[in-house]
Amino acid sequence: MRRLIRKHALKNALEFGKANSKAVLGKVLAEKPELRDRVRELLPLVEQVVAEVNALGREEIEREISGYSFEVKRERRRELPELPGAEGGVVMRFAPNPSGPLHLGHARAAVLNDAYVKRYSGTLILRLEDTDPARVYPPAYEMIQEDLHWLGVHIHRVVVQSSRLEIYYRHARELIERGHAYVCECTGEEFQRLKLAEQECEHRGKSVEENLADFERMFTEFKEGEAVVRLKTGVELSDPAMRDFPIMRISEAKHPRVSARVYPLMNFAVAIDDHLLGITHVLRGKDHIVNTRKQAFVYRFFGWPMPEFIHYGRLKIEGVALSTSRIKEGIEAGKYSGWDDAALGTLRALARRGFRSEAVRRAMLEVGIKQSDISFSWKNLFAYNRELVEPIANRYFFVASPVEVVIEHMPEFSREVRLHPSYPERGSRRLVVKPEAGVGRIFIAEGDYAKLRQGEFVRLMEGFNVVIQEKRRHWMRARFHSLELEEAKRRRARLIHWVPAPHAVPVTVVKPEGRDTGYGEPALGEVEPGDMVQFERYGFARIDEAGERIIAYYAHP
Ligand code: GLU
Repeated sequence: MRRLIRKHALKNALEFGKANSKAVLGKVLAEKPELRDRVRELLPLVEQVVAEVNALGREEIEREISGYSFEVKRERRRELPELPGAEGGVVMRFAPNPSGPLHLGHARAAVLNDAYVKRYSGTLILRLEDTDPARVYPPAYEMIQEDLHWLGVHIHRVVVQSSRLEIYYRHARELIERGHAYVCECTGEEFQRLKLAEQECEHRGKSVEENLADFERMFTEFKEGEAVVRLKTGVELSDPAMRDFPIMRISEAKHPRVSARVYPLMNFAVAIDDHLLGITHVLRGKDHIVNTRKQAFVYRFFGWPMPEFIHYGRLKIEGVALSTSRIKEGIEAGKYSGWDDAALGTLRALARRGFRSEAVRRAMLEVGIKQSDISFSWKNLFAYNRELVEPIANRYFFVASPVEVVIEHMPEFSREVRLHPSYPERGSRRLVVKPEAGVGRIFIAEGDYAKLRQGEFVRLMEGFNVVIQEKRRHWMRARFHSLELEEAKRRRARLIHWVPAPHAVPVTVVKPEGRDTGYGEPALGEVEPGDMVQFERYGFARIDEAGERIIAYYAHP
């Protein structure tokens, strides 16, 4: 039984950095369902084994786990459900506003649309929704396409709404001619008051000719806010949001692509485009349900069939900044270094931190199109990314907030250590301590320094054993003891990582919540920008700047 628990604890620790008792218990029960009646006695044992496993280093876990065998797990079917009526083929769209590059929130819609289009060999249209000139960020047109390329989303056609203004004008005129729309000169407040009182405004009863003339005046005479085109949905509808909502308006803000002053509102442009582009299925969040209902009126007035709408639940993403407008302000104020600042949830920031797009895709496919609201699991994204980068990341020691340790009676020390324990062919790095007058100097991380006690026997990983002699503020005196790992194991010594003091390389690790500075081992002098590395007992990071001083962007443990 202990062996069974141990095996799952090791696997869980390897996948997630640390083993979790509940998860391990789940796996144990999945393998031996007959133990379900004995959970009460099982749990303390699981907790004990998990604690033991969590005290092991990654290498030890890897070594031990190779001695266990796992049932080939029936790949749990996490597949997306079929789309209704997809047999005849699908045309889908991803329709972001070009107000900034894409972030994790967008990635869901982009990846899911792409996955369905690939499944049904359909067509995916990228539609850039830029009919609110005040919210257009000109570089975003390019950035969004670059981001989609990075995500592996295959776009068959790009449509930019601002180049389709004539189409929206034509459809607005047509609705006016058929008596389904009118030009309204009420102020926002006036209309609001009437609407809540279920009363028609004085403009609603105008003739078609008057409305057509007033529509032309929107292009020439009326100023922003003086007139809108409203759809005659009915002022007595039970939902006030549906009552004669506007479909066209004037904006005097400068548009980077066109010189215009009359623009469609989102629901009008979206409905017309979805119809004209032959969209068969619309995937969108539940927050768009009201919009879908408004768009249904447009379809009804034109007599068009509606596409299939699928509304998925909200995805709560914590820990990173996502609001495009707030990010833009933050960049201008110098709070963020740019759109790829490590604190952001943009795809650029994730890429800079060393996330692979395959991991993001997998995380989003798992999120899926479920109706229920869910929280984005960073843990899963980390685990997927770890699977991809662990084999390619060489390992190095990095000590954050370094504290110097002066080691007395230090012999000459030099040892080759593999860059990756599983791939000897990748070569090795050399850890060297050259004592001067019997004294060697190294750095350890402040976090470890804080835990060490006077007289403690400590193993410096891949190195040697020392005994702490004296702990001073900001440095420490130790004494060389022995070389053998066995000795350290027997004494259940703490294993800590370290960096030889001479030739230590200054390293800054940029994290979403701030930065760590410290030293890395001399071999880091050879890494190159873009390389993924694993700092032992610290985590995975992507080298952003290399050379005499390293800047690394942190990904995950
Ligand atoms: N551009 C809008 C958005 O990004 C429309 C999306 C949609 O119609 O589904 O929210």
